[in-house]
Amino acid sequence: MPDTETPLTSIRARIQAACAAAGRDPEAVTLLAVSKTRGADEIAALADQGQRHFGENYLQEALDKMPALAGRDLVWHFIGPLQSNKTRDVAARFDWVHSVDRAKVARRLNDQRPAALPPLNVCLQVNVDDEDSKSGLPLAEVPALAAAFQEWPRLRLRGLMAIPRADAEDGNRAAFRRLAMTLSHLRNTMPALDTLSMGMSADYPVAIEEGATLVRIGTALFGPRPPKA
Ligand SMILES: *Cc1c(COP(=O)(O)O)cnc(C)c1O
Repeated sequence: MPDTETPLTSIRARIQAACAAAGRDPEAVTLLAVSKTRGADEIAALADQGQRHFGENYLQEALDKMPALAGRDLVWHFIGPLQSNKTRDVAARFDWVHSVDRAKVARRLNDQRPAALPPLNVCLQVNVDDEDSKSGLPLAEVPALAAAFQEWPRLRLRGLMAIPRADAEDGNRAAFRRLAMTLSHLRNTMPALDTLSMGMSADYPVAIEEGATLVRIGTALFGPRPPKA
């Protein structure tokens, strides 16, 4: 264990503290390092400190970085908006997709997942605020899409993901609770579902209190992102 404090070690400590406060096992929360806009060298530096799970939003950027990191046994998560024309590369190169919100995209990922790889882990992205403008499946449509995964043996449905509105006064607690309730209902008929992907730099301790099993953290790990060109 390194003695020096780094953003990674302090986030791990905050995750542990949030788990302790909520009476949860810290092993039950996975830290996903959101590495969009960050170079392969920065990812390698975190990997050297033991970080294994990395999340990317932009397909081409991710594909450009992956070769330099091959052989490090990293777990790649696609967390960005997913159009049908990008499913082939996502199905071939990633271990997880958190942003599936319609059957068409799921079916394509299933059909395009290479036979040599294990089934692709999938979370359904849910619109927990029921805003018109954002991506994500309305809460009411989650059970039907989840049930459809029976038809897709190359996908392994793991759970739900959400990106709540940034300005909620309660630190997004109510939104996280709605997502947790929805997963809990699904688990009555699909007990294998085990993933609640919720919480980012600004709100992950609250998300952990509300049951997050995976927190997606970018800024708090890497510093502010450069403005997008
Ligand atoms: C960028 C991003 C994050 C990380 O956000 P930070 O506020 O930088 O921690 C998490 N989830 C998704 C889907 C993102 O696009």
